[in-house]
Amino acid sequence: MAKNLILLGLPGAGKGTQADFIVKDYPVVHISTGDIFRTNLANNTELGQKAREFMDAGDLVPDEITNAMVADRLSQSDVEEAGFMLDGYPRNEAQAEFLDSYLSDNNQAVSATLYFEVSDSLLRQRLLGRGRADDTPEVIDNRLAVNKAANLPLVDYYQRAGVLHTIDGGRQLADVYRDVKEVLDNLD
Ligand code: AMP
Repeated sequence: MAKNLILLGLPGAGKGTQADFIVKDYPVVHISTGDIFRTNLANNTELGQKAREFMDAGDLVPDEITNAMVADRLSQSDVEEAGFMLDGYPRNEAQAEFLDSYLSDNNQAVSATLYFEVSDSLLRQRLLGRGRADDTPEVIDNRLAVNKAANLPLVDYYQRAGVLHTIDGGRQLADVYRDVKEVLDNLD
């Protein structure tokens, strides 16, 4: 059966990098909500216009906008056939609940949540080094604070659901990925 994965971790935890490795070895569709928003921003779509002010400030885009966008993407046939790997979503418990109800309505479930744990100081260092337009020190600090507050409840949520796998993301990429494979190769 198709695997449905969630990558969890604060911005800079290495989710995107590990996602690039995972899609080479496993047949999941990589869905990064940040990337979808950035594409919409660049193309100045209606969705992009709605998301812009929140993204510029490093705040979360409101759930009703984000959830609708994710549901639309998950309903496409490539995802239904291969399974998904969500990167950057859910970002809060309400989004996790929305995802669960969408999946159960469609007779699906989350197979595994990979949580990449990285210390604050390393996160800040990595984000500053990335040099993206929205990676100024002020925006980074706000983005870390906003995401941190939302992250712990999510870790608890997936722990309770029995699908959480915590991985030390502060190591070399290859070492992190070895642990990722260990988890994915042992899913039913
Ligand atoms: P990211 O590349 O994941 O850091 O996302 C960049 C920006 O897109 C975030 O700072 C938010 O403004 C927005 N965004 C991405 N994913 C979500 C989400 N799940 N919920 C709300 N906003 C999001």
